[in-house]
Amino acid sequence: MTHWTTKLIHTDARPEAGFESLVTPVFRGSTTVFPRAGDARDDWRHEAGYTYGLYGTPTTRELAARIAELERGKWTFMTPGGQAAIALVDIAFTRAGDHVLIPDSVYGPNRQLADKVLRRFGVDVEFYPPLAGAALAERMKPTTRLVWCESPGSITMEVQDVPAIVDVAHRHGALVALDNTYAAGVHFDAFAHGVDVTMQALTKYIGGHSDLLLGSVTVRTSAEYERLGLVHDLLGLAVSPDDCYLALRGMQTLGVRLAALEQSTLRIAKWLATQDAIATVLHPALPSCPGHDVWRRDFTGSASVFSIVFTPAATRDAILAFVDALALFKVGYSWGGVTSLAMPFFELARTHPAAREWRLVRLNIGLEETNDLIEDLAQALQRAGLTDGAR
Ligand SMILES: *Cc1c(COP(=O)(O)O)cnc(C)c1O
Repeated sequence: MTHWTTKLIHTDARPEAGFESLVTPVFRGSTTVFPRAGDARDDWRHEAGYTYGLYGTPTTRELAARIAELERGKWTFMTPGGQAAIALVDIAFTRAGDHVLIPDSVYGPNRQLADKVLRRFGVDVEFYPPLAGAALAERMKPTTRLVWCESPGSITMEVQDVPAIVDVAHRHGALVALDNTYAAGVHFDAFAHGVDVTMQALTKYIGGHSDLLLGSVTVRTSAEYERLGLVHDLLGLAVSPDDCYLALRGMQTLGVRLAALEQSTLRIAKWLATQDAIATVLHPALPSCPGHDVWRRDFTGSASVFSIVFTPAATRDAILAFVDALALFKVGYSWGGVTSLAMPFFELARTHPAAREWRLVRLNIGLEETNDLIEDLAQALQRAGLTDGAR
């Protein structure tokens, strides 16, 4: 007779098979069991099946396959966050002596990783003006290996001429990696525009509910698949199947959320553009946004995050008072969830000193009723003394 403590681990209980749920189950596991000793092998490639939990479970791989399907790539690697996806791209595709070009408007931690870590590893890092387009040719070196794009840029929202940049990079034998988080992988068709590798912070629109951190890197060719996959494996970038489950759930409503957010955000951005204290609204669908024409040419929609720039008459204290007076907009980083957010920025990391000083508030529009949000913005402008005579 087997002792009961052994039964706890080796049970004879067998629930009926055949439960067909609409929902992807959460498969958890580090060890995956091989039928026979001779079958055991260690291989991260998804074609090899399941050999170790680190390389994926059916839950994480379903999410990966669905992101690849949406972006129309070859395969997607899951990472524990968007920033880990950026790091994976950097580490997979650069080595000492390589020259890397990064837009000046890039997501802050992407810039810091290049500045503080890639440089330490001997990578030649250069930040370029995000609107360079074909003029990027002037910055190409024989050692240029990787060109980053992020469109629109973080906080200052410059829309990049990605096809022109791709053209320059490919003529010089460099890869183009795109942070496609704003477009949720759908509003800008990266691979159709020539990009080689995309990444997304799934934390934002795919998750959609501010309850998870997750990232993805999607590749188009076998060469990039092999190179990225090996580094992904060796860095040990494990993701939680529970987080992937939440992302799979979020993904099902991505279409309706993006559509609702786009409409509400546009109405609010246009209303803000009529306010005296606001000098510029940096929303890609408005002509006041740098690169708006490129957005019209290349994008199929706009999203929920944008920035407003106050006139010089608005003091730092008044802008802080405006943000604090908002009731429905919460103060916090990240975006893409159901809650409206506001975040002031006065100093930005930019190459040119003139581009560092701002009177800017980044807004993320959530799924609250649009009129309530406009009313909230109006009362906050009023309470901060930012309603008249500022222009
Ligand atoms: C949020 C964000 C990231 C990082 O994503 P995390 O999941 O928070 O690590 C990367 N790029 C952009 C453009 C982002 O907005």
